[in-house]
Amino acid sequence: MNRISWHQYFMAQTHLIALRSTCERLTVGATIVRDKRIIAGGYNGSVSGSAHCVDEGCYVIDGHCVRTIHAEMNAILQCAKFGVATDNSEIYVTHFPCLQCCKSIIQAGIVKVYYAKDYKNHPYAIELFEEASVKTEHVPLDAAALDLVRNLE
Ligand SMILES: [Zn+2]
Ligand SMILES: [Zn+2]
Repeated sequence: MNRISWHQYFMAQTHLIALRSTCERLTVGATIVRDKRIIAGGYNGSVSGSAHCVDEGCYVIDGHCVRTIHAEMNAILQCAKFGVATDNSEIYVTHFPCLQCCKSIIQAGIVKVYYAKDYKNHPYAIELFEEASVKTEHVPLDAAALDLVRNLE
């Protein structure tokens, strides 16, 4: 029996939710996990009920799309909205978090970040993670894990 690892299960889920992204600049997903259970997921997209980049175009200021809330923030805010504790949880992300998300991750009490791809890894984000003892680990999405999904058919 081919059993998917926890890392690949959560990382595959993170890539799956990234496909819900509404900003064409970058397709990002995030999954918050506690005790091997998914407590929240997020993708980069507009504020609920507002126009989407895919429909109206990105709203770019200084090279950044300001229309979207980042995947990590959406996952953290989902926990805030429904009263789910994020302390001592872990987060899986498709891309290394930006500086703003890095700060929010630390402040939410998340203790470990698993990322599939390096993405403009900001030196200050790396420094802040180290200072806060938040561990980061590169976990690329394994194509073999996706084959297992295909083999179910
Ligand atoms: Zn956009
Ligand atoms: Zn971010």
